[in-house]
Amino acid sequence: MDKEHLRANLDEVIWNIEEARISVSEHHIVQLVAVGKYTEVENIATLYELGQRAFGENQVQQLKTRMTVLEELPLEWHMIGTLQKNKINNLIDLRPSLMHSLDSLSLAEELNKKLGAKEANMHCLLQINSAREESKSGVTPEEAHDIYLQIKESCPNITLKGVMTIGAHTDDTLLIQQSFEITHGIFETLGKEGATVCSMGMSGDYPLAIKCGSNLVRVGSALFK
Ligand SMILES: *Cc1c(COP(=O)(O)O)cnc(C)c1O
Repeated sequence: MDKEHLRANLDEVIWNIEEARISVSEHHIVQLVAVGKYTEVENIATLYELGQRAFGENQVQQLKTRMTVLEELPLEWHMIGTLQKNKINNLIDLRPSLMHSLDSLSLAEELNKKLGAKEANMHCLLQINSAREESKSGVTPEEAHDIYLQIKESCPNITLKGVMTIGAHTDDTLLIQQSFEITHGIFETLGKEGATVCSMGMSGDYPLAIKCGSNLVRVGSALFK
């Protein structure tokens, strides 16, 4: 993709984020994580030239390849996809800025153990299956609060920073909004536990997610269309 095309896409996304966040509050700041999984690594480098710093990938291997190719650039990398237990050590070695997809207590315990062995720490979000979809991972809204506290207590090598969700997979805006509101409600009750990141919103629904309180959106196809 040529640079001007990517610039137009990025401008449009930033404008939409701006419009949505201002409708919440002038003080509501939203981070954009550009999800590169559908695009070539060259386009990530171009987006960096255009001012974008934070990038996300949903597979450990792809994350590793791209971090290696682009290691000269001061980028911030996010792991946003389901983490297989046999990839935990690989991910730890990559030292991502934030891992969005901690989706069970058993994954947290396994990750904590392997982090401990390497004397490492990782910043993570607890993934909530807010739309209760079979196809999606994450803890249920009912158990989210307890599991968050349990991880905080029993996993010293994990620093929990907040929550993540994927909006309901439907054309029904009301259902999508509900899944965001449920997640934001949990995020708010976790404020006293130090939660500061509410990661929700993708290409199809990020303005709505921001209006529901998201402060981090993960946008892929809208940037690379
Ligand atoms: C792919 C992906 C995104 C970005 O999706 P788009 O619809 O292309 O913006 C966001 N979050 C997760 C977890 C993803 O896997």
